[in-house]
Amino acid sequence: MPYDPENIFAKILRGEIPSTKVLENEQALAIEDINPVAPVHVLVMPKAAYVSGADFSARASDLEIAQLHRLVGRVATLKGLDETGYRTLSNHGPDAHQEVDHYHVHVVGGRDLGGMIKRIGN
Ligand code: AMP
Repeated sequence: MPYDPENIFAKILRGEIPSTKVLENEQALAIEDINPVAPVHVLVMPKAAYVSGADFSARASDLEIAQLHRLVGRVATLKGLDETGYRTLSNHGPDAHQEVDHYHVHVVGGRDLGGMIKRIGN
């Protein structure tokens, strides 16, 4: 899938629509999710244009990959989640119901998140 520069996170990165910034470094930005599923729900995204985790892992530089993951760790620490725990996840493609086609990692915590994925049929 080609990258759509009109996706909502591209607009946020260009400053065309507002967001609540949590942290950033040279290569990545962390913002509050607009529709949080837990007391902490932050989205960490590369500043450059990548459609998904598949695209990011294939094309991003080692620096971009390192800085994105370092920002995830800093977000968790800033939000006080290191002791209580948290979940990171990214959705890729239709089976995962990816809604925004600019790669991002969800950092979710602040409550018991339960088991990860329900077994098919349960
Ligand atoms: P995904 O299904 O992994 O693509 O998740 C997209 C996430 O982006 C959802 O959790 C939305 O609540 C969130 N979201 C959509 N629009 C915005 C926005 N303008 N600012 C912050 N988060 C957003």
